[in-house]
Amino acid sequence: MVAVFVSSMPAQADWIADARPMMGTEISVRIWHDDAREGQRLIEQVFVEAKRIDQLMSTYIDDSRISDINRRSADEPVIAGDELFRLIQRALDISVLTLGAFDITYESVGQHYDFRNRERPDKATVDASRVLIDYRLVKLDQAAGTVEFAAEGVRINLGGIAKGYVVERGVDLLRRAGVQNGIVTAGGDSRLLGDRRGEPWMVGIRDPRIEGEIAMTLPLADEAVSTSGDYERYFVEDGVRYHHIISPSTGDPASGVHSATVFGPDAVLTDALSTSVFVMGVDEGLRLIATLPDYESVVIDDQGQIYYSDGLQRPDQ
Ligand code: ADP
Ligand code: MG
Repeated sequence: MVAVFVSSMPAQADWIADARPMMGTEISVRIWHDDAREGQRLIEQVFVEAKRIDQLMSTYIDDSRISDINRRSADEPVIAGDELFRLIQRALDISVLTLGAFDITYESVGQHYDFRNRERPDKATVDASRVLIDYRLVKLDQAAGTVEFAAEGVRINLGGIAKGYVVERGVDLLRRAGVQNGIVTAGGDSRLLGDRRGEPWMVGIRDPRIEGEIAMTLPLADEAVSTSGDYERYFVEDGVRYHHIISPSTGDPASGVHSATVFGPDAVLTDALSTSVFVMGVDEGLRLIATLPDYESVVIDDQGQIYYSDGLQRPDQ
């Protein structure tokens, strides 16, 4: 007689992973689960959640809530809905924290770029719209739940914070479903759930100039990590690299840094801070990080030199 024990055997736990092109980048999810089908279903839910958030916050989608706000908020207060209202509120708070380096109204100039088609605003356009990069021109009415712009021509874009929000929400969803080990990545933003089963996750920071090369690897667990680089979306014209991170003070792409990585407990903040440190530069950026006890940073400047925030022990020490 053959013993039938297969059905009573505990399900085999394993890593399950999937990736999808979304939000102009790739979203990938990897989790440890003892039920492959249930694991797949959870990963699918993360993609659905990302899609929902994109539909709310993408300026590339004509009928998104953010597009509606951009079209009408100079004329009248526009209802944002709780979730979007809260994220805009957070973005404005981060503008205060970063002394204006992070500013969602960068889009007042940013809207004139089209990286795929190598289009950029001419000097006159930058000069005219630069004054519209000012987060103080965004007026929020808490009671009414509305957004209003104090000047014609102001535009907002949550591109510097939305992917962090997506990975934070994705990990929340997985955690609530009982997942203890996993990672959700959207472009340059990752949120780690637990560790890699007894070992830290090894998060690579790309070499900003050599495609496919890793500049360094950080062992991390239970944290968020974001990298902003000038190699994500850009084109080169007459030797000048026009990329997607705009310095609010000049209205031009920020210079001096090739990549800025920030890690800490909250992916929304690491996402916004990596963009901010990129804009602020090595000295000012690392000074800001030093004031935030739970956050650390690694910056690669335009000479390829690597800088670490105070709380980080250098790997060679
Ligand atoms: P990515 O993961 O796309 O590289 P980053 O975190 O580096 O994203 O943020 C870059 C994005 O942030 C840009 O594509 C743009 O949408 C937005 N952005 C650019 N400059 C600023 C700025 N000064 N403040 C806030 N957001 C910005
Ligand atoms: Mg960022």
